[in-house]
Amino acid sequence: MTSFDVDLFVIGGGSGGVRAARIAAGYGAKVMLAEEYRVGGTCVIRGCVPKKLMVYASRFADEFHDAQGFGWSVGETRFDWATLIRNKDREIDRLEGIYRTNLEKAGVEIVDSRAVIADAHTVHVLKTGARIRARTILVAVGAHPTLEPVIPGGELGITSNEVFHLEQQPKRILVVGGGYIAVEFAGVFAGLGSEVTLLHRGDMLLRGFDDDVRIALGEAYAQRGINLALGRTLTSLEKTPGGIAATLSDGSILTVDQVLVATGRRPNTKGLGLENAGIAVDEVGAIPVDGYSQTLIPSIYAVGDVTNRANLTPIAIREGHAFADTVFGNKPTIVDHDLIPTAVFSTPEIGVIGCGEAAARAIYGEIDVYKTAFRPMKATLSGGKDRVFMKLIVDKATDKVVGVHIMGHDAGEMIQLAGIAVTMGATKADFDRTVAVHPTAAEELVTMR
Ligand code: NDP
Repeated sequence: MTSFDVDLFVIGGGSGGVRAARIAAGYGAKVMLAEEYRVGGTCVIRGCVPKKLMVYASRFADEFHDAQGFGWSVGETRFDWATLIRNKDREIDRLEGIYRTNLEKAGVEIVDSRAVIADAHTVHVLKTGARIRARTILVAVGAHPTLEPVIPGGELGITSNEVFHLEQQPKRILVVGGGYIAVEFAGVFAGLGSEVTLLHRGDMLLRGFDDDVRIALGEAYAQRGINLALGRTLTSLEKTPGGIAATLSDGSILTVDQVLVATGRRPNTKGLGLENAGIAVDEVGAIPVDGYSQTLIPSIYAVGDVTNRANLTPIAIREGHAFADTVFGNKPTIVDHDLIPTAVFSTPEIGVIGCGEAAARAIYGEIDVYKTAFRPMKATLSGGKDRVFMKLIVDKATDKVVGVHIMGHDAGEMIQLAGIAVTMGATKADFDRTVAVHPTAAEELVTMR
């Protein structure tokens, strides 16, 4: 009879791996988890959490400005980058500690080492040389940002991994890309007072989002003083006495202090030993899995960004939990990737669930579209320039709301709740019969006719 050292070996201590390990241990499984860097993964250590703290920091300038219209004298304000980074690091340390404690409390053994797959049931722990036999292996190693495309001097650029640890705030920054990360950091640095150029190869930011939202964000960013360099790419970087000279595809040269490249992320599958178990990755390096997150090798599963399904923390957590329920809890669970509420922490913020107008037309044929754009109440006295934009998309045949798109203050908070309604299958009539909460911005969601 084959004997195993553990029931489950989890490779990767990020959102997906940690959740899977804890839930599996809760079902009585003997679990070991290897993490080569810091427990918490991208989200906690160098993603969502530190990013959101920096987003908060970046929004105070608006608050100081807005306060004056309400009678406050704010006086001179000054921002200290070093204080923000120090306090942010302290919070990340605290959270990492909580993640470790929670794993330990659940009975999970943590191994601080890189681990690679030796065969379908064996993991090689590189630090100790141990070879652990596991009934089931879960790969939850996430993804990493790339410095792509490769261009002369490209190594002068930084990625979102480094941006959290800069010793100084760049006075001038070039942000490359038009996705979540580029858009969020352009907003952060603009709010903190840096001179920001956002360079994107497309003619609108946030491909895949509803066009009206993309237009509204472009206008808001331009209005906030972000220099939008659209329809162009970066061709080279060069160190000069004045900073980093960035040459763009139109021949123009921009000198900045930092270049943040946010042109996408790739699964961390290199050197993981997947071939030792007979697992082939796809063209972007992701591990193909079925609805239960199982690979073609029955003893090996994979969750989170390494599978490149929907690369979002709550989805990795869902997938990790569903994996543990399926394999150790006798509750086969498939994660639904269809309706995912999401937020972009730009300023102004964006919250979305469901499809955009073009996608909805393609899927449902006949749709009704409701839109509103307005000045938020606070801006009446503050003179703030941001506007709120909202859009509902309704399938004409069923009256179901199939898309909610919000840009404006707290859009992320709003979309979480609108997401419940849409997930439940709410119709436009359900939205209409919901009493407005007055005066709020969110009430527009139930008063659009
Ligand atoms: P995305 O894939 O979202 O965006 C990449 C951007 O880079 C796109 O605008 C893309 O352009 C552009 N790009 C890609 N390749 C090139 C190239 N060769 N030359 C020029 N431009 C290029 O990646 P991100 O790095 O922004 O984020 C990674 C993932 O992390 C996201 O998909 C998201 O799932 C997750 N994330 C979620 C957040 C949240 O929930 N708030 C926050 C941060 C990240 P094009 O559009 O033309 O393809």
